[in-house]
Amino acid sequence: MIPGAAGLCAALLDLEPADAQQLGAEVAALAAHLPVPARALLALGTAAAEAVAMTRTGHRLGHLDGDRRRALVAGLAATNAAAPLLDALKVPVLLAHGALVAAADPGSRDPGPPARPDAALDVTPAGRWPTRSVADAVVIGSGAGGAMAARTLAQAGLTVVVVEEGRRFTVAELRASPPIERFTAMYRDGGATVALGRPPVVLPVGRGVGGTTLVNSGTCYRTPTAVLDRWRDDHGVVFADPDAFGPLLDDVWTTLQVAAVPDTVMGANGQIALRGAAALGWSAHRLQRNAPGCGGCCQCAVGCPRNAKFGVHLSVLPAACAAGARIVTDARVERVLHGAGRATGVRARRVDGSTFEILAPHVVVAAGATETPLLLRRSGLGRHPHVGRNLAVHPALSTAGWFDEPVHATSGVLQSVGIDELHERHGILIEATATPPGMGSLLLPGVGRPLADQLARADHLATLGAMVGDAPNGRVRGTSHALVRYDLAQADARRLLRGVAAMGRVLFAAGATAVVTGIGDHPTVRSPAALDEAVASARPGRLHVAAFHPTGTVRMGADDQTHPVDPDGRLRGVDGVWVADASVLPSCPEVNPQVSIMAVALAVAGRCAARAGA
Ligand SMILES: Cc1cc2nc3c(=O)[nH]c(=O)nc-3n(C[C@H](O)[C@H](O)[C@H](O)COP(=O)(O)OP(=O)(O)OC[C@H]3O[C@@H](n4cnc5c(N)ncnc54)[C@H](O)[C@@H]3O)c2cc1C
Ligand code: SF4
Repeated sequence: MIPGAAGLCAALLDLEPADAQQLGAEVAALAAHLPVPARALLALGTAAAEAVAMTRTGHRLGHLDGDRRRALVAGLAATNAAAPLLDALKVPVLLAHGALVAAADPGSRDPGPPARPDAALDVTPAGRWPTRSVADAVVIGSGAGGAMAARTLAQAGLTVVVVEEGRRFTVAELRASPPIERFTAMYRDGGATVALGRPPVVLPVGRGVGGTTLVNSGTCYRTPTAVLDRWRDDHGVVFADPDAFGPLLDDVWTTLQVAAVPDTVMGANGQIALRGAAALGWSAHRLQRNAPGCGGCCQCAVGCPRNAKFGVHLSVLPAACAAGARIVTDARVERVLHGAGRATGVRARRVDGSTFEILAPHVVVAAGATETPLLLRRSGLGRHPHVGRNLAVHPALSTAGWFDEPVHATSGVLQSVGIDELHERHGILIEATATPPGMGSLLLPGVGRPLADQLARADHLATLGAMVGDAPNGRVRGTSHALVRYDLAQADARRLLRGVAAMGRVLFAAGATAVVTGIGDHPTVRSPAALDEAVASARPGRLHVAAFHPTGTVRMGADDQTHPVDPDGRLRGVDGVWVADASVLPSCPEVNPQVSIMAVALAVAGRCAARAGA
């Protein structure tokens, strides 16, 4: 329960008491899924809003009549001190509001029949796994990198156990539960992971069999040649030579059954992006995706309820299991075990607190870029000064356009079109990206009646996102819980804002009557000239940045002073420990990274198998 939640809802969305009570209860239900610090912050923020109301009016928010509440909220929204608090409190309130709207119209999220049944996987929950077992290799994490590593090792003839902290999600469960519940269940810390800095960066990562590929958008890009050249020439990663890397990318592409988004599921959000780019004469294309049988229900970010998106739990792990790999779920690896300078296995903790060990001479760490450095430190293997450093996140900003005609952005693929006009020269990649039903209103500016009016027309919004290839300006600290710090470089902030200007131009060119910029002092603009003014006046520290592609925290390369992992994927300083996930990428790949991560994992696991004599 969050005391004062109903009053807060009444204030933020200008609701009558009964509606505010219902929304307050939904906010409390959502908060129950959040980690303790996020829940505490929400309670504190709500209490702070109540305290301000008491000081200014002598009444609690929930006890104010409509006019006085509206006047108070409008006054607060106009002050520099209170506006950020209201912005932060809006997030859970809008998510809860979206959940209620989606629940009232279940037809709006009908995904159609499953494209395929759940895959045949050899999955054992940790409670049924023995206290001690042996294998040739243990893979930690079942996401993009871990799955590819497990498949390679098992197909080479090694006995392989994959240990996954999350659980398995079935298509039946995804079809039965609303998007917001899936959101809090399928992401680490209920989706509330943030990199601290100015501005803070929302940084969600998935947790479950399939890792973040369970919840990603299914967009596939081959690693750009210029990036591969840098990995080879600047970091000494020999296998990144474009000629050598090409066959690895081909393998991933075929495995994931990648194809261009078809007309049938493109949706109006993507059509608007294509129309705007065409009007400007800009280069744009349908995105390539790993989603054979996609029905365009726009729920990719909360797990595909059709089993169409071909995450690694459907595309890669079945082949690994067919070759003998076993998956243990609900078990967090606490330590990589080692002695006399070489790996001897792993120790993992079950949900009930008990532990088990799997002894193995080869351990492949693939826990993702924010968890792998922690695991290495917990294991006494994180002494290299660059473990946890060099975090790049591929930061992103969203911009939306208001259209006279309904857009119904949730009818169609979540991520549909790429606009690459500014990609090669400026590292800015624009993608038409909608949000799952009920989760699309976070960008809307304002509070009170103006916000409520926009919510009532939210199906007239089309949304684009721009990401920039960034400098490695972040760091992951900690041993049990990641403390992530990321400082957006000035140059990257400028390029993000250039991305906002470009997205706004595309939206206006497509016929938008107004553009929601996400920029504090000019949240909505009605002309390209006003857009330019907004961008010129923006303060980078106030931007609402999100990022979905953390990489580089245990990067690979030839220089042993600056790269904790060698160019073959072996952790320096110990034998038998390999790293095969986003953490080893030497720099931001400048495109959506899953294909690059899987190709790198193929290369690393191939070398591990060769070393194991398989
Ligand atoms: C919302 C969203 C949308 C995205 N969309 C796209 C997209 O369209 N295209 C694209 O290319 N990329 C996309 N990505 C990014 C992409 O999915 C990730 O970059 C990729 O999955 C990372 O692979 P990984 O192997 O490093 O880690 P993950 O896939 O995150 O897998 C790591 C796994 O390790 C497990 N784990 C962690 N610690 C432990 C431990 N101690 N013990 C046991 N298990 C552990 C985790 O639970 C997790 O399952 C998206 C990401 C997000 C969040
Ligand atoms: S839009 Fe996404 S969630 Fe919906 S069917 Fe296609 S891949 Fe699955």
